[in-house]
Amino acid sequence: MKEVILTDAQLEVLEYIYHKLQLEYERVAEALDFTCTGCPDNCCDSYFQHHTYAEWAHLWLGIRRLEPEVQLSLIARAKSYLEQCEQALAAGQRPQVMCPLNDEGRCVVYQHRLLVCRTHGVPATLTRPDGRTFQFPGCFRCQEIVENLDKNELPVPVERTLLLQRLALLENELLDNKRHLLPKVKMTIAEMLVHGPPVIPRTDPSK
Ligand code: SF4
Ligand code: SF4
Repeated sequence: MKEVILTDAQLEVLEYIYHKLQLEYERVAEALDFTCTGCPDNCCDSYFQHHTYAEWAHLWLGIRRLEPEVQLSLIARAKSYLEQCEQALAAGQRPQVMCPLNDEGRCVVYQHRLLVCRTHGVPATLTRPDGRTFQFPGCFRCQEIVENLDKNELPVPVERTLLLQRLALLENELLDNKRHLLPKVKMTIAEMLVHGPPVIPRTDPSK
């Protein structure tokens, strides 16, 4: 097995994607006069699964920057998170458990947080390769703002399609164009922590 490691160039691409999404997020948030300030909720307890080795590897770059004892305590928290999620899922409920990387409201890997963490709040659209289009309404607070506005006052939602296509290309390159041969990623952040950094079977023994 070998660890999946982003090259500097790949890291630059991923950070570019994050940056562009951030700009799009800010455009829509500003137009809606929407911020997270004063929010009674914290969407870090939303149950999300993530789908790329690239983001998983990037998350671990952030984890490794933390002191070893902090890393261990986060992994312990992640195990407890998974137990709580299992109980909720077994009861037929969608889990709502605080992300193990949220420390008293602060993300301990802010620069390495995942794409969903960066885009959840505001309305967005995504068109899949099969042509199906998805509309994301944003968080509950943002939806309240949108409901009180006239349709023609609404900004164009964040368009995720091109940036996610770029992420898919990056993922393929990171996996030596063998993405289709590898296990699909469908993991919570806690699973990424407990599992450790991403590893894949070594297909070329010389590498
Ligand atoms: S995105 Fe929405 S729900 Fe999440 S913290 Fe911001 S305002 Fe609150
Ligand atoms: S990674 Fe950070 S921003 Fe994302 S859910 Fe966890 S604590 Fe929140």
